[in-house]
Amino acid sequence: MSAAVDPLAGLGSRLLLQGIGSPARVKGFVTCRALGNMKDEAPRRAAFQSAKLVGCPEFYLRQVHGTGIVSVEGTVPPAAPPEADGWITAVPGPVLCVFVADCMPLFLWEKSGKAVGIFHVGWRGLAAGMPRKAVAAFGESYGVRPGDLTAYVGPHIGKCCYRVGPETAAQFRPESLIRRDDAVSLDLGKEAAHQLRESGLGQIVLAGDCTACETDRFFSYRREKAGGRMLAFITLDPE
Ligand SMILES: [Zn+2]
Repeated sequence: MSAAVDPLAGLGSRLLLQGIGSPARVKGFVTCRALGNMKDEAPRRAAFQSAKLVGCPEFYLRQVHGTGIVSVEGTVPPAAPPEADGWITAVPGPVLCVFVADCMPLFLWEKSGKAVGIFHVGWRGLAAGMPRKAVAAFGESYGVRPGDLTAYVGPHIGKCCYRVGPETAAQFRPESLIRRDDAVSLDLGKEAAHQLRESGLGQIVLAGDCTACETDRFFSYRREKAGGRMLAFITLDPE
């Protein structure tokens, strides 16, 4: 990797969420392809170094395309990654991580920095209502009102590239589908935003990037059928 490459510059900003109005203590990132496959240890170390989060406790999931959400109440990661697809916390320090490649990383935070969360959302998670459940989890665990949450829907496979079969399409509203000739595409971002709005969120920011179109910047599971993954993470800075 060239020293000139900023591994977190895939989205044009090192402090991704600050660019869209989060409080300074809420820090969120998505790695870009230039940093390598985040399933490998060395690129992950480089990512945390670049994010200035060296030595912070890292929390990983065994992602299963479900709607399980784990509430983190301390700073020691579980001995084994829990089987779930989302994290929430009000504790400063833990770095909550999800792996993505075409699936979306969904970031949520309370506007004053009281609590943060991150979620791995593909079509199965969307069909099962993960964005709605994520918003509800903030209320149940921390008493956060939906109107006080902001969402950032990170880079994912776009409607330009995400053809789906009839069984998948049947699980979504017509408004989230694009029908062209005999093909159907799913707009993951639009469906996520719809669920978030219905849950009471006013502040929703959608990344415009398509991971399958832009394979110079992202890994795409669909396009490449390879194992490359990006890492999305969020933390409440203890400072
Ligand atoms: Zn595309």
